[in-house]
Amino acid sequence: MAQILAPSTQWQMKITKSSHKASPITSNMWGSLLLRHDKKGAPASSAKFRALTIKSESGVVNRIEKLLNMDVTPYIDKIIAEYIWVGGTGIDVRSKSRTITRPVDHPSELPKWNYDGSSTGQAPGEDSEVILYPQAIFRDPFRGGNNILVICDSYTPAGEPIPTNKRHRAAEIFSNPKVVAEVPWYGIEQEYTLLQTNVKWPLGWPVGAYPGPQGPYYCSAGADKSFGRDISDAHYKACLYAGINISGTNGEVMPGQWEYQVGPSVGIEAGDHIWCSRYILERITEQAGVVLSLDPKPIEGDWNGAGCHTNFSTKSMREDGGYDVIKKAILNLSLRHQEHISAYGEGNERRLTGKHETANINTFSWGVANRGCSIRVGRDTEKNGKGYLEDRRPASNMDPYIVTSLLAETTLLWEPTLEAEALAVQKLALKV
Ligand code: ADP
Ligand code: MN
Ligand code: MN
Ligand code: MN
Repeated sequence: MAQILAPSTQWQMKITKSSHKASPITSNMWGSLLLRHDKKGAPASSAKFRALTIKSESGVVNRIEKLLNMDVTPYIDKIIAEYIWVGGTGIDVRSKSRTITRPVDHPSELPKWNYDGSSTGQAPGEDSEVILYPQAIFRDPFRGGNNILVICDSYTPAGEPIPTNKRHRAAEIFSNPKVVAEVPWYGIEQEYTLLQTNVKWPLGWPVGAYPGPQGPYYCSAGADKSFGRDISDAHYKACLYAGINISGTNGEVMPGQWEYQVGPSVGIEAGDHIWCSRYILERITEQAGVVLSLDPKPIEGDWNGAGCHTNFSTKSMREDGGYDVIKKAILNLSLRHQEHISAYGEGNERRLTGKHETANINTFSWGVANRGCSIRVGRDTEKNGKGYLEDRRPASNMDPYIVTSLLAETTLLWEPTLEAEALAVQKLALKV
C-alpha cells in the first residue's frame, strides 16, 4: 500500500552541525548482524553472517567491531567525507575518503576531487584523471559524528560530464522551468536480492537446491521464510540516520529478496537518495558477509524478478482534475515505450515476461489496480480523481537519474503529433 507523505524539501542540502543526538550504527546493531556467527551448527538454510577474515575464537571479531564503531565524535575539528560516485558499468558504486578541516552544511563547501578513471572503466590510461563534483551530502551512519557521505558526479578536467555521468543531464531537465513549476514527485521501490557470498545463491536457499515454491515468503516472518531481515532493518535505520527519505521496507515474494521505498522526493533529489541508499546497502551487506545483487532476474524460472517501480506525480496530477493529466501522461508514455524500455535497466527482458506481476516488454499497457500492466493507477487515484501513476517497468538495476528525468521529459516536455495521439487514444481506450 502506498502512503502519501509530504516530500522532504531538499533538506539533504542542510545538515545542521552537531545538532543530532542520535547515535550512528551502534555495536549493538552490528552485534545483531554478527550474532549468528557465534552459533554453532546453524541449519544450512539459515542466514550466516560473518565478519570477513575474522576468527571469532580469538576475540578478533570484538576488536574489529569496536574499531569499526569507534566514536569519532570527539574529533570534530576535522571530519571524514566519503566521496561516492557511479562507476563505469553504470551500476557499480565507488567511494574514497578524505579529511575535511571543518564540518560542512552544504556540498558547495566541499572541494572537488579526482580519481583514476582508468581503474573504473571511465577513462583511458594515458589521460585517466576524472574530476568529482560534490552534489549532495548525507550523514555517515558508519562513522557518525559530523562525518558525511558525499554523492558526486564525474567530469573531465575540462569540465565536460563524462559519458557515464547521468546526473548532469537529469539536473538539466529538472531545472527546466516547465518541470520546476510542476514539482515532480517520485516514490521509488527498490527491490534487491541477497546472495550467499561464496556460492552466489540466494540467502536462505539450500546450496545447489531450491526452497519450496513462492507463496509463504512475501512480508513473512519466521526462520523458514524470512532471510536477511537484519540487513533490511540495519539498512532502514542507517538510511533514516543518513537523512535519506526512506518510506518503508518489505520482504518480497522470492525468498531472500527485499524491497525498500524512497520518497516521495522532488526532482533530482530522488536519484541522489536512491544512489546513497544503494551505497549504504553495499556497505551493510559487505559487513554482514552477504552479496548484494541488483540483477532484474537473479534466478530463472518460477521466481519473481527484481524491479524498481517508480511512482510519479506532478503538481497538476495531485490537484483536482488530476486524473485527466495522468491519462494524458500515460498516452505520452505509450508513444515512447521503446525509449523508456531501453533506458530502464540491463537484462530487463529476462524480467518483463508478462508473468510474475510484470507486463510483457514488447507491449505497453495500463490499468487501474492491475499489477500485470506497464503502468498501474491506484484505486485511490481513480476514486479521488487525482494522485499519481506507477511505472512498473524499471528494473532493480536502473539508473534513477535516467528514469526520473525521462518520466519528466516524456510527460512534461515532449509532445506527440496529433495523428499519433489520436491513434493512441483509440488503442488504449484513453479518453482525455
Ligand atoms: P506498492 O503498492 O506498489 O507496493 P509502495 O507502497 O511500495 O507501493 O511504494 C509507493 C511509493 O510511492 C512510496 O515511496 C510512496 O511514498 C510513493 N508515493 C506516494 N504518493 C506519491 C505521489 N503522489 N507521487 C509520487 N510518489 C508517491
Ligand atoms: Mn512496493
Ligand atoms: Mn515489490
Ligand atoms: Mn509497486
